[in-house]
Amino acid sequence: MTFASLGLRAELLRALTDSGYTIPTPVQAQAIPLILQGHDLLAGAQTGTGKTAGFTLPLLQRLNATTPNPGGSRRPVRALILTPTRELAAQVEESVRTYSKYLPQNSVAIYGGVNIVPQIRALESGVDILVATPGRLLDHIQQRTVDLSRIEILVLDEADRMLDMGFIRDIRKIMALLPVKRQNLLFSATFSDEIKDLADRMLNKPMRVEVARKNAESELVTHAVYLSTRENKYNLLIHLLVDEKVGQALLFTRTKHGANRVAQQLVQDGVSAVPIHGNRSQPQRTKALADFKSGAVRILVATDIAARGLDISQLPHVINFELPNVPEDYVHRIGRTGRAGTPGEALSLVSSDELSYLFAIEKLLKKPITRRTPKDFTPAPRRVGATADSPYPRPEMPQVPQGSGSRGGGRNAPSTQSDSRPRRSSGFGNPTQRPGGGQSSPSRPGSSSSMPPRRPR
Ligand code: AMP
Repeated sequence: MTFASLGLRAELLRALTDSGYTIPTPVQAQAIPLILQGHDLLAGAQTGTGKTAGFTLPLLQRLNATTPNPGGSRRPVRALILTPTRELAAQVEESVRTYSKYLPQNSVAIYGGVNIVPQIRALESGVDILVATPGRLLDHIQQRTVDLSRIEILVLDEADRMLDMGFIRDIRKIMALLPVKRQNLLFSATFSDEIKDLADRMLNKPMRVEVARKNAESELVTHAVYLSTRENKYNLLIHLLVDEKVGQALLFTRTKHGANRVAQQLVQDGVSAVPIHGNRSQPQRTKALADFKSGAVRILVATDIAARGLDISQLPHVINFELPNVPEDYVHRIGRTGRAGTPGEALSLVSSDELSYLFAIEKLLKKPITRRTPKDFTPAPRRVGATADSPYPRPEMPQVPQGSGSRGGGRNAPSTQSDSRPRRSSGFGNPTQRPGGGQSSPSRPGSSSSMPPRRPR
């Protein structure tokens, strides 16, 4: 099968050739013809499947096939793509630009954390395709700097993530402002009752497309677990980076504070590393990602939310410094490697208090993950360059009772909070009795209820 056989126009085929893509991925092969025919779509596809091109290409074709571009200064926004995170908005908009380079349509990404004025100017000068996070889009709506009354196509990208992050009310508010007659495309990696409910409200006789969860089960990804005490994790990490020559890696922690600490310690130990999470400013996040993509930074230390949907090609390693407490997040994390035909490795450093998370992940993957013993590793008490107050190894701290408001972070308790959001049920018990009694507090399904959902603006 070729892109031409899917009925895409010459300008799009040319842009695809420039990108080096010749064969449509399964989601593209299924979704493109249906979208071209004007159907609403409910698509089960996660990041890494090529879903962005799967909706962008036919969207561009339809905008060109229907009303000719009115031109002039204030042309109306005709397509709206909503994404859960700023990074994803920027990334999707970049794809739109790539595929539309031989077409007259233009696009802009609007998201929070950056100056709103250039976004207002761009909207004033006329935009065909808007890629937005819900929070900042609502800011524009309130300021009347955007008009959504001429939207022809609405895309919800990573809809499950948007609901996880508490965006449902924002999405409803935005949908209420759109014309009733429009084409709706909903992409989601999972289908909870909430997603089905949203799909029922939003979609009109949708066609369904589902592609296999490809990344975690991909033959290209090798999974391995290193069992470790919590205190030895950092030393083990250094061992992997130095002795086992793990090169560039995306490293995950469960908390923002944990991400800062690991990144800081790595830098002190001479490894270029930078954190990316919700407490960093948008310019910092953008720079961190750009430096990692360019190879200037070896380790990008991320929390789950910040890394959502990131497309980093040819990433050989994902390291779970801490396992996620929601097993699906493991799949999302691992989806960053083993892409586009290049092999990848997913290495997890697992302490005894995380074993229940590991078992839940193995259950989801329907296979055990190989346990590996590091070669010639002696758990050294210190690393080269470590300072007296270095975060790892860290002292054991008593377990803080749930709902106490503090998460065991001592003085600055809020900074130990995880990248918090209303979570799905993790499907397994909360290990309140943790053998290691470690300091890090996994975000618990019940514990996030006291916190407002994070809204990227
Ligand atoms: P996505 O799932 O949209 O995040 O895309 C994952 C990656 O696959 C991105 O780097 C795309 O540029 C790339 N990609 C998309 N379509 C194709 C294709 N047909 N062939 C090869 N790579 C592709």
